[in-house]
Amino acid sequence: MRQPDLVDDTDRRRWEEPGVYEVAPGIFRVPLPMPDRGLRTVNVYLIEGDDGLTMIDAGWAHPPARAALDEALAALSCSVQDVRSILVTHVHADHYSQGGALRRESGCAVLLGEHERPSLESLRAGRGGRAGMVAPLRRHGAEAVIAAVATAGFGDSGGPELWELPDEWIADGQLFALGKTRLQAMHTPGHTRGHLVYVDADQRVIFTGDHVLPHITPSVGFESAPAELPLAHYLSSLRAVRALPDMMMLPAHGPVRTSVHARIDELLAHHEARLDACAALLAGRPRTAYEIARELPWTRRARRFDDLKPEHQMLAVYETAAHLDVLHVRGRCERVIEADIVRYRVV
Ligand SMILES: [Zn+2]
Repeated sequence: MRQPDLVDDTDRRRWEEPGVYEVAPGIFRVPLPMPDRGLRTVNVYLIEGDDGLTMIDAGWAHPPARAALDEALAALSCSVQDVRSILVTHVHADHYSQGGALRRESGCAVLLGEHERPSLESLRAGRGGRAGMVAPLRRHGAEAVIAAVATAGFGDSGGPELWELPDEWIADGQLFALGKTRLQAMHTPGHTRGHLVYVDADQRVIFTGDHVLPHITPSVGFESAPAELPLAHYLSSLRAVRALPDMMMLPAHGPVRTSVHARIDELLAHHEARLDACAALLAGRPRTAYEIARELPWTRRARRFDDLKPEHQMLAVYETAAHLDVLHVRGRCERVIEADIVRYRVV
């Protein structure tokens, strides 16, 4: 089952085929299924060390994911007992929630970025579900999306068993020696407040989590305790990784790509174009993020907002608000708040 990770970029689904793909000496990509209807697969990575395996991300607590992981470990003549630690990129269910179950079986340590603490605590207190999603939608004038999301039954953040505390909180710059591999954690807020990427400078590979994805632009600020300006953080974090030497990127969703710089350049250009598109729609009366979102094209296929699934409409409103807030801090528009509804207009 060891095979080189040569995924044809024209075949966007091939990366999801189950297996163990050696992407660099001693580093294996393992795609795991997830119950999500949109993104169907998450990559976890296994790193061979002197005394066992380190995982990057844990996968979703979901029986088919566990079965796929067991198969992958068996193909490496290992089992879950060989996992020593799990370095998680961020506290979304597809990256974090399987960690607790793996820890109970193997005694491994689960580690998470220290700035994920407010969101994890909010999830543990049961504040991560629909209620948390509704407040920003209401503030941005998206009552219709609130109704659609409720009808679709979206917003169950799962029970407390998914949101156990980690064994250790990781600080920016923290180093990990895993046999011949040395990893450095780097705080890259944006997709979530405490998102981390892990850099292997010797082999010139970077585990990008959801910070840099090859085919999609990650959502920003979809978390239980979001930051004030998630897109501003995200753009700074992209530039911080762009300032490192170029590396092969190992993403959490999608195939491996040879140049993280090339993908970051695409993402930065995409966001500047979106900022300009938002600004162009602000001429005239003050408008809500919901009104602007309904006029923007969405996804690679330029779909209409009204044709998106309710949960994607929700992310589209968050994303539009994040862009409008960046226009605001850049002095390109002003915010008007009346009766708790935020509207934007050109200065
Ligand atoms: Zn995520």
